[in-house]
Amino acid sequence: MLHAIDACVHCGFCLPACPTYALLGDEMDSPRGRIVLMKDVLEGELSLHDAAPHLDRCLGCQGCVTACPSGVAYGELITSFRGWSEPQRQRGLLLEARRAAILRVLPSPAVFQAAATLGQVAKPLAPVMPKLLRPALDLLPNRVPRRNRLRAFYPAQGLKRGRIALLAGCAQQVLAPNFNEATIRVLTLNGYEVAVPPEQGCCGAAALHTGDRPLALGQVRRNLAAFEPQEYDAIISNAAGCGAGLKEYPAVLHGLPDQPQAEALAAKVQDIAEFLGGLLDRGELRPALPATRPLRIAYHDACHLAHAQGIRREPRELLRWISGVEVLEVPRGELCCGSAGTYNIEQPELADQLGELKATSILSTQPDLIVSGNIGCHTQITTHVGRQGGAARVMHTIEVLDLAYRGEL
Ligand code: SF4
Ligand code: SF4
Repeated sequence: MLHAIDACVHCGFCLPACPTYALLGDEMDSPRGRIVLMKDVLEGELSLHDAAPHLDRCLGCQGCVTACPSGVAYGELITSFRGWSEPQRQRGLLLEARRAAILRVLPSPAVFQAAATLGQVAKPLAPVMPKLLRPALDLLPNRVPRRNRLRAFYPAQGLKRGRIALLAGCAQQVLAPNFNEATIRVLTLNGYEVAVPPEQGCCGAAALHTGDRPLALGQVRRNLAAFEPQEYDAIISNAAGCGAGLKEYPAVLHGLPDQPQAEALAAKVQDIAEFLGGLLDRGELRPALPATRPLRIAYHDACHLAHAQGIRREPRELLRWISGVEVLEVPRGELCCGSAGTYNIEQPELADQLGELKATSILSTQPDLIVSGNIGCHTQITTHVGRQGGAARVMHTIEVLDLAYRGEL
């Protein structure tokens, strides 16, 4: 932690990239300010109680990491700080109960499915529900899709070129099952057999980034046991947050006996856009059919794809590769949409302002379609584009490719 703190030279280049600073204009709600706060708390100069509101408002979006010329590892810093400080936090019974519920319901698709179905019934009553419950209800879709359980194995079509393991994700299996189905169709069509190890679970990112390190460690180790990296050409995620989470495993287990296992797994992890982008670069991607009409696609960079994993080029190139598609850049695209894991439930006012800002920016490009590579962004943008009366559908990059392969785009 101290290394990351010392690397900051307080130049302020990160300030314009920080969504909370953009909204609040307060140095304490900027990356530079938060680094000082963390340092003061660690040195005993400031109480955790006084620093916590500013640190809690950080989305963990890592926009500041991309902007920082000194290479300050802010993401690692805030994650370590939250892990260190969490056992000392006192939130009150209701807030603690909500936090525990989020971290235990979201990672279990069966429990989340039941909660989301119940939530659907309660959704029209959201305005009269207790304030703590409203943000989660607002974000639920009007109709929770029917859940198709994934099989453990899907054979390659035609000549087999390799073997992939798929991380199925948690909430995404309930809210957008088509993301996984489209991923499997595109990979098998390109000659890859796909395994979905049934023993896998939550990647652990939500628990880790909100400071529950013991819960995160359990989830990380469950996946280390479920995935055998040597058996696969790649371990694929189609959720930016989860993919970034898997790539963080060596840092999570740093210095522990299972660190080498974590390194072997992380070395095989790729986002679906990263993997297919590689095939495209090498001229190995099976051709798709042109779009049936000219399509203007606004591409939204998910923070955990662009800032945490540095993947910006591949999704754009995959979309542009489909004949008839024009990719539009969203103004101030580097700013987080406000979803950020559990942020839009825990900090609903700020998340709403960011969602509104993002929807306005996206709609200013006058898109026919809005595309992103993360379930959280998908939910947040769908909600806020809907509130602004936007008619453009929000899709995942892999859904667009899947439709193009089927001649239905
Ligand atoms: S850009 Fe980097 S070095 Fe400069 S203030 Fe921000 S975190 Fe510190
Ligand atoms: S992670 Fe995002 S919200 Fe947090 S300080 Fe960095 S830019 Fe700001």
